Amino acid sequence: MVQRFSRSLRFRFLAALGGVFLLALISLAALRKWGIFPALHKEERAVVIKELAQIERSLNISQQELLAQARDWAIWDDTYEFIQGNYPGYTDTNFSQQMFEEMRYQLMAFFNAEGDVHFLAGLNPATGQYHTCYTAERECRWMSGLIRTMQSSIKEDPEQGKSRLYAGTTPLMVASNPIVRTDESGPPQGWLFKVRPMDDEWLTIIEDYTGLPTTLAMVEGGINHDTTVTISGNTIQAQRYLTTYPLNEQLALGTQLNRTSYLASLETFRYVLLWTACLMLLVIGLVLLLLERIILKPLRTLTQFTQQPSVDPKGSSNLLGRGDEIGILARAFQQQFMHQQQLNAELIELSTHDSLTGLPNRRLFDQRLREVVDIALNTGQPLSVMMIDIDHFKLFNDHYGHPEGDICLQRVAQTMHDIATAYGFFIARTGGEEFSAMLPATTTIQAMEKSQALSHAIDQLQHPHQMSPVASYVTVSIGISQLDVENDMTPSGLMTAADQALYAAKAAGRHCAKVYTPSLANATISSHSAPS
Ligand code: GH3
Ligand code: MG
Ligand code: MG
Repeated sequence: MVQRFSRSLRFRFLAALGGVFLLALISLAALRKWGIFPALHKEERAVVIKELAQIERSLNISQQELLAQARDWAIWDDTYEFIQGNYPGYTDTNFSQQMFEEMRYQLMAFFNAEGDVHFLAGLNPATGQYHTCYTAERECRWMSGLIRTMQSSIKEDPEQGKSRLYAGTTPLMVASNPIVRTDESGPPQGWLFKVRPMDDEWLTIIEDYTGLPTTLAMVEGGINHDTTVTISGNTIQAQRYLTTYPLNEQLALGTQLNRTSYLASLETFRYVLLWTACLMLLVIGLVLLLLERIILKPLRTLTQFTQQPSVDPKGSSNLLGRGDEIGILARAFQQQFMHQQQLNAELIELSTHDSLTGLPNRRLFDQRLREVVDIALNTGQPLSVMMIDIDHFKLFNDHYGHPEGDICLQRVAQTMHDIATAYGFFIARTGGEEFSAMLPATTTIQAMEKSQALSHAIDQLQHPHQMSPVASYVTVSIGISQLDVENDMTPSGLMTAADQALYAAKAAGRHCAKVYTPSLANATISSHSAPS
């Protein structure tokens, strides 16, 4: 049963479509894992890095702005005079706490041509107090570290004109420029440094400007890459590492974005995948259903029809009425089947009937005889047989010729067939000019009556037979025997007995019927002479 199912078209279709479905699912999963997800992820990284670049551009603008301010002051003729000690009112006129707060400066440092401190002004980040000094001592001591860094910067590169980031508890943005005349003639007379803290206020300004959350933190140790992207929960963070002066520390400028859009895309894609899978399943189910309806079921009906063509006439008429290939197949099969049946019938007819007379032949007679003998033995009913032989037929042939003999045989056969039909017994041509009849439920006495009717009907034909010593027309001799039920007589035994009776009829002068009685043996065959 299982094996038959596994070989059925239904199973094969199911297996093939199931395979296609699985393959599609695997492809979708692979696409998800190696195609869509990495692409979404890459896109997400690109977005956050782009946003971070915008923050960095704002930082650069901020640095350029501070540098421009430092340069404005450094190439101002008043500053040029002041650095040479020629402008005593310079500090009072130009420096105030209010100016530092408004400009968000932490410190302004003036160095002379030798690189020594000339003037310092600044807001102490710890106390918020404003101080001006000529050395980094006492109330200006908090500046000393910065001043040293600036002096080593001057030594390294006296050209200056640059903006740098300084490491510190609060990172600093430092811009410096050599002090020269406004027309930039003559040698530099010193250097001016402006320092702006990159504190929370600065971060707020950047955030307002960019519209992005911004973080700034000191990172110790060497970092050997520029940008990192990290994902934690619903946020994605990007950090860019900026080099500070001196070079032993780095600043991490960062931003973070909410992953809602990425996660929403992911969720949408998951839904799409799920629906695609469901849709595929539905399509496969539908395909199977349609296959079942359109092909498999009609095919099964066709198969049943070919196995038992007449089982369900209604079903087969539906099948035969179809206009499709299955209908064509069914009709072709039916035609073939009918042709086959006709051939079979012809074959059976040919194999069981005699071609000359059309009567059943010996094969059919023997077959029927076996059946009726069995029935008679079982039921105990009488059964008689007759053997009928045309008298002196050799002489007939010799005189009239074989074709005339054939015609004679046909006429005799037809006559005997009519009598057999009228009396309800079975007759066959079992030899050249020899016929056999079987008479179920008939005793020899009843058989004798029927043999008389047979013989009489042939006499009535008056088929001329000039050479016959018996009569001037064709006559027959008949041997009759009855089945010995008690002794389980065989069909051949029964026929042998009839043959012996026929022999006795011939011996008795022909044109008569003889009954074989087993109990009386050969010598006591009873006789009957047909009317001449
Ligand atoms: P008996 O009275 O003893 O039966 O004599 P008989 O001549 O009829 O018997 P025999 O057996 O000597 O001859 C039978 C003849 O029947 C021989 C044969 O030529 C003829 N015969 C047998 N079959 C056919 C046939 O199909 N057509 C024709 N025309 N003759 C046949
Ligand atoms: Mg014969
Ligand atoms: Mg004969």
